[in-house]
Amino acid sequence: MPTARDARNLDLADPLHSRREMFLLPEQIVYLDGNSLGALSSGVPATVEKVVRDQWGDHLITAWTEDDWWGAPLRIGDRIGRLLGAAPGQITVGESTSVQTFNALVAAARLRPGRRLLVTDPDHFPTNRYLAQSAAGLCGLEVVAVPVPDVCGFLREQGEQVAVVSYGAVDFRTGRLWDTAEVTAAAHAAGAVTVWDLCHAAGALPVALDDQGVDIAVGCTYKYLSGGPGSPAFIYVARRHHEIFEPPLTGWHGHARPFRMEQDFEPAPGIARTRIGTPPVLSLLALEAALGVFDGVEMTEIRAKSLSLGDFFIACFDQHLASLGFELMTPREGSRRGSQVTVAHPEAHALMRALIARGVVGDVRPPDMLRFGFNALYVSHSDIHRAVTTLRDIALCGAHHDPRFTTPTLIT
Ligand SMILES: *Cc1c(COP(=O)(O)O)cnc(C)c1O
Repeated sequence: MPTARDARNLDLADPLHSRREMFLLPEQIVYLDGNSLGALSSGVPATVEKVVRDQWGDHLITAWTEDDWWGAPLRIGDRIGRLLGAAPGQITVGESTSVQTFNALVAAARLRPGRRLLVTDPDHFPTNRYLAQSAAGLCGLEVVAVPVPDVCGFLREQGEQVAVVSYGAVDFRTGRLWDTAEVTAAAHAAGAVTVWDLCHAAGALPVALDDQGVDIAVGCTYKYLSGGPGSPAFIYVARRHHEIFEPPLTGWHGHARPFRMEQDFEPAPGIARTRIGTPPVLSLLALEAALGVFDGVEMTEIRAKSLSLGDFFIACFDQHLASLGFELMTPREGSRRGSQVTVAHPEAHALMRALIARGVVGDVRPPDMLRFGFNALYVSHSDIHRAVTTLRDIALCGAHHDPRFTTPTLIT
């Protein structure tokens, strides 16, 4: 173990194996970057063509009602809700994750007037950290950076001043999965409101927003949900907060009567108040088509396959990479992993570029991490075997020292 043959046997026994045919992946590519940009699914091009030609082209402005463009943000929100354990009517799709995060943080702070702290992860994704600073400044709060392993203790001891607790379910660099239920419960015990970032969890593993009593969550749709480049993000607000939820970005789509064009803002009832302005309709409807790959699959099945892929990657790592100066950054224990494995190496950047040149696509994050994401709907155990053995071959022969791979690039 683990050989190419073992990989093939695991693939033969994999109930999701044929889902790969729903994606238009180039033949010779092993694509392990679906945690950054999900692959194109086969229903999307025809839908986009139809939306452009028939709806935009022929129906023009009437498409807002005739094709229900107006209903798309909430309709697609409900569809994503099924994957996140959220009952209908609690998710809107539109805007970028950054915009949704800003709206979520300020609205969360407004739910807890009189408290002065916003607690967040010092290792959170940059946009989340920057926006925490901005939102805190606007709301008169102080940002406290507390690493995830310490946050429950912090909330027990100093929680009475905490308004907002903002963390990611999965660390974007290491793929470490945090205990969202535990942190949410600790935040609630302290009287604080939670804002979870689900960018690396949505579509990757089961999430139980309603059951865990999460207050607010946001996430990307272009990663594991494969919605396409720049596809709009979602925001979840638990129903119990709807009537008092006050987003700072009060656009006309979130108004109670948008087409009356009234003088003052009055929020729409329910989750519709999180709408802002005209959404990117083409991207939104491309996302809706992309979500078809989740029809007939439970997130528990996706999780089982994803864990099997991660276990297999780690077994391959132990055999082929551990002795070559690579370090495993992701927990070995399945229950503490998202759907990604990260390995560190001082020459990470050049190694990844050499790997991509050989048809295996992952990415890198500073300072020295190579990330490999597993979308269980289209990644196979054989892909993992090829990825790890190709990386081993490159490291062994030093192919990454070629100047083609050592010059800096903007994005890898
Ligand atoms: C990918 C990601 C984002 C991206 O935000 P955009 O506004 O879509 O650029 C934000 N936060 C986290 C945690 C992410 O992983």
